Amino acid sequence: MKKILQDLSYTELETLILALGEKKFRAKQLYEGLMQGKAIEDISSLSKALKARLLEEYENAPVKIKEIYHSADGTEKYLFEYADGNLVEGVLMKYKYGYTQCVSTQVGCRMGCKFCASTLGGLIRNLTAGEILSQILVVNALHKADRTGQGKEARAVTNVVLMGSGEPLDNYAEVLKFLKNATAEGGVCISARNISLSTCGIVPKMYQLADEGIPLNLTVSLHATDDESRARTMPVAKAYKIADILKACEYYFKKTGRRYYFEYTLIEGENCDEEHAKALIELLKGKPCHVNLIRLNEVKERSLKAIGDKQAYRFLGMLEKGGLSATLRRQIGVDIGGACGQLRASYLEEKRV
Ligand code: SAH
Repeated sequence: MKKILQDLSYTELETLILALGEKKFRAKQLYEGLMQGKAIEDISSLSKALKARLLEEYENAPVKIKEIYHSADGTEKYLFEYADGNLVEGVLMKYKYGYTQCVSTQVGCRMGCKFCASTLGGLIRNLTAGEILSQILVVNALHKADRTGQGKEARAVTNVVLMGSGEPLDNYAEVLKFLKNATAEGGVCISARNISLSTCGIVPKMYQLADEGIPLNLTVSLHATDDESRARTMPVAKAYKIADILKACEYYFKKTGRRYYFEYTLIEGENCDEEHAKALIELLKGKPCHVNLIRLNEVKERSLKAIGDKQAYRFLGMLEKGGLSATLRRQIGVDIGGACGQLRASYLEEKRV
């Protein structure tokens, strides 16, 4: 595979351009073109010779949107295709204050959570920082007309959640580089405060992330209140205990001053009875955190079942009464369906038959 220009920071691009014997201002033109989601070939300010030279070593366009699915509520779901043919998915949720994009950090995943479709075929490969960033670049380009802001700051995507396929902290170095490049001035300019990173709870990496001092929203997929039950749906629970995850969250709070979040997917007969609400309150009461309850998106390859709305609101009510800050995540884009990984899984299945 060729290299990817979108992996490079502005300073690194400048070094590359100077090394190619070009004037410094070419780096600015190249960076601006890339940040507008253009393929190398389509950056009209650059000479043909420079583009040809770059194309010898670098991918013209690291990612393409292969399919777009539109929901009646405005949500869009994408199937992205990388230069090597690998597929990942993404979602764009449109809110009044801006667009939130859900991005993938790996092709597949090796965490093995029982409710998740991304993990069905295991980990295929890590995405590079530029491959992750390119998901945003092509979506911004697609929504050129809806851009907010002025000049270089103009972009459609204002918020990013790392909640697509993959475990971000299992691809630490590339995800960190992505975070740095995505928040850099003059690029896609996403404020770190508008980025949420969701992890299944890889404790040592949570400490490492806290030490980077990036003020993003740290979200942990909890889904259970004791280690034994958690291990039934999340194999990673055998390696990292809930108590240690909570300590890492406290550390994150101390370091960044940011409250942290828990995701709790409601699974029938597994984690949403009164005893579980009590245990969750016991575990989290008084901590600077917020609980996001999620309705299970049933994955046909798995036998786990979702609960009804009434039961979900009952569970939410119990948490609130117990003093927790909690919300039940609104269901959006249900008609275009699919939780993380389901779109890719069904696409691959269709292609097989
Ligand atoms: N690897 C990261 C990001 C995963 S996706 C993590 O584990 O946090 C983001 C969230 O969606 C996680 O909380 C994950 O547990 C949840 N999720 C995955 N599959 C789901 C499904 N079928 N229904 C509901 N939530 C799901």
